[in-house]
Amino acid sequence: MDTSKSRQELRENIKALGTILAPAFEREPLIAASVYEQQFRCGKPTCHCAEGKKHIRMAISVNRHGINTARYVKQADADKVRKQAEAYKRVRNARAEFGKWHKEMLGLLDALEANRTESLSQFGIDNKEENK
Ligand SMILES: [Zn+2]
Repeated sequence: MDTSKSRQELRENIKALGTILAPAFEREPLIAASVYEQQFRCGKPTCHCAEGKKHIRMAISVNRHGINTARYVKQADADKVRKQAEAYKRVRNARAEFGKWHKEMLGLLDALEANRTESLSQFGIDNKEENK
């Protein structure tokens, strides 16, 4: 990649950083869980769910010692739990995006450095192994 293209990408990446890190500036508390909906039958023989449409409840997947386990969420807590789990997801995604950003920036910096690096021989300096 030529130097001006590398510089242009460097500038664009610097601008994008604010967007990538925005979740880090949010105030919402976080819970380390992911939310999903689960269908179930309540077990009452006369309930519509016995034959027809199942009930839906909110569940979360929680990682305990490397194993994901399901936990049910009380209806009264559902909105709060969803919000905090979504905030957690945004922070985790921001971290992953920052990792990619960082790797890309190192690549650009290395490319810029390589393009600008000139030989020491222009100063009559021999940079061969034995002179180290
Ligand atoms: Zn039921």
